[in-house]
Amino acid sequence: MSTFSAPKGTYDLIPPESETFLAVREAIAAPLRRAGYGYIETPGFEHTELFARGVGESTDIVTKEMYTLTTKGGTELALRPEGTASVLRAALQRNLHRGALPVKLWYSGSYYRYERPQAGRYRHFSQVGAEALGAEDPALDAELIILAVDAYRSLGLRNFRLLLNSLGDRECRPVYRAVLQDFLRGLDLDEETRRRIDINPLRVLDDKREEVQKQLDGAPMMRDHLCDACREYHEQVRSLLTAAGVEFTDDPKLVRGLDYYTRTTFEFVHDGLGSQSAVGGGGRYDGLSEMIGGPALPSVGWALGVDRTVLALKAEGVETEVPARTEVFAVPLGEEARRALFSVVTELRRAGVAADFAFGGKGMKNAMKSANRSGARYAVVAGERDLAEGQVQLKDLDSGDQNPVALESVVTTIKEKLQ
Ligand code: AMP
Repeated sequence: MSTFSAPKGTYDLIPPESETFLAVREAIAAPLRRAGYGYIETPGFEHTELFARGVGESTDIVTKEMYTLTTKGGTELALRPEGTASVLRAALQRNLHRGALPVKLWYSGSYYRYERPQAGRYRHFSQVGAEALGAEDPALDAELIILAVDAYRSLGLRNFRLLLNSLGDRECRPVYRAVLQDFLRGLDLDEETRRRIDINPLRVLDDKREEVQKQLDGAPMMRDHLCDACREYHEQVRSLLTAAGVEFTDDPKLVRGLDYYTRTTFEFVHDGLGSQSAVGGGGRYDGLSEMIGGPALPSVGWALGVDRTVLALKAEGVETEVPARTEVFAVPLGEEARRALFSVVTELRRAGVAADFAFGGKGMKNAMKSANRSGARYAVVAGERDLAEGQVQLKDLDSGDQNPVALESVVTTIKEKLQ
């Protein structure tokens, strides 16, 4: 066994695959920027209390999956398991909600959940998220969903589906909750699931086990208990999506794992991923600000999983564009040439050309091997005799042709040839 191993449930991003991760993050961010979302970055850890109150004491995330620690000073902290509670905390702390509303923010970073690792499920993973704080407007829910769809489409992803539901609000949800509890209490369920009926009955609908799902046929559904305001709101979201050419499937059982959602709830799933099929999800969370001790601040947001989006692209065989690799590789022969070509490489880079250098004092043969491996189009080769004549050799690595070029004009010549 290797002496070096990353912790269980984690993996390293290394070139060239790491480029796909950057491309995915950028592709998700681009539509958000065009829609007026500003970038926010919050710490990797928060007071544990924030997540306990914000994500919900009854969720798996809080009860089983948080990485918590007590500092030397006795403060209880948790590595962030998700982004929304932190973004809302930061916005309230910095009084963003006192300015123009909605406050539209996007973020990108690492999240941590102590889950059982499997394909597509990690203990450290990466999300890009967006939150629109302080407005209750179906157009805002629709905007966010459309931006996510546009991001996936811009990456070339095709086989993803949007599942949509409404979870009601503080008017109609408690009524439905009681009706659902009555139904669930009549079923044959294990001890833990029975406890869940008391704490968070909606989550039972989300149970993946077949023996549970079988009994849920005929369960009362939120959509049949929505109040008029929620029904009207949901209809507007749906018609705005349809007008934007966004297809969706109504999924009355979609509840999602976090406690704070109200009204619009959605998930993006990809069919090429096996059991961990959710590539992103989100919804409206009108009560969250009050749950963490803030003022009323109706809001909506989503988080898209970067790791799973990369897996989805792979499953569809989509190649993401990678930035230009090395175009020119410098091969110096001797100390004087090292200094001269090192300057040439610096100048090339400053002129916008991707250039690299044979580091480590390699001999001609090894240096040319590196040049070929780098994928460069040209090698710039020079020895003492070339320099004495004020020139370098420019070698076309595709054709093998080699021609002398004046040292002082080599950067311009290469730029012209590359165009
Ligand atoms: P959630 O906050 O659970 O709705 O997660 C939003 C998205 O983040 C999911 O749709 C996944 O794509 C991704 N995600 C959540 N948990 C994990 C995990 N443990 N490993 C990899 N991706 C995850």
